Amino acid sequence: MFAVISDIHGNLEALQAVLDDVPEGVEEIFCLGDVIGYGASPNECCDLVRELGVPTISGNHDLAVTDLATDLSWFNPVAAAAVEWTRGVISQQNAQFLLSRPRTMRHGASLFVHGSPRDPDEYILDAAGARENLALLEADHPGVKVCFFGHTHVKAVAPSPEGLDGGDEPDEVLKLPGAGPYLVNPGSVGQPRDGDRYASYVLAEVAPEGEPDGASVVYRAVPYDVGKAQARIRSAGLPPVLADRLSRGR
Ligand code: ZN
Repeated sequence: MFAVISDIHGNLEALQAVLDDVPEGVEEIFCLGDVIGYGASPNECCDLVRELGVPTISGNHDLAVTDLATDLSWFNPVAAAAVEWTRGVISQQNAQFLLSRPRTMRHGASLFVHGSPRDPDEYILDAAGARENLALLEADHPGVKVCFFGHTHVKAVAPSPEGLDGGDEPDEVLKLPGAGPYLVNPGSVGQPRDGDRYASYVLAEVAPEGEPDGASVVYRAVPYDVGKAQARIRSAGLPPVLADRLSRGR
């Protein structure tokens, strides 16, 4: 069994709560990127990911902060302000770490991407986007049963009767039979956008390539000290909306 976390976004309180929640017996924690950006604790979050040896890929915020050539006009004003603030505080060591992460990882029959297998900056938000990326997985990534993706900060599973479902009830075992492929978004640790203020991640079991068994996934919804994370954002001088949205999960 392994865990998949995504979009921590400098929210130390949420990350710590998730790490405390990971049950014994979990062999590895994989991270889908965006360790920093938005939240007030980028170094603390990055230190934890590094020191725990959590394999991680880079997200668009990780790169926007650490690659100074990034064109910030693609970011909305609040996100751009957060990138500028984070550039001012991120340590050299953490910047180097984030900048040198791969953009995708493969582990057995699992693939890990930030946005989509097609494009690390793509948002998979609807059935059409899911369908196209499932077809691409089949063609370009043989043997992959589950592709874990983030970036939208919204829990999601495909294929499903509606094309793209909003994940499962927490703690229910979601069976993904056969060879797939499937797309699974664990939701966001540090800045959920699905109306759920809890820190979200998944526990997963994926049978090895070539074996007939598929995968199973359990969503975890972890309460954390939202007020403390908000207070840090406000006192850091980051845009206050970044604090406000944490209590709405939007
Ligand atoms: Zn993100």
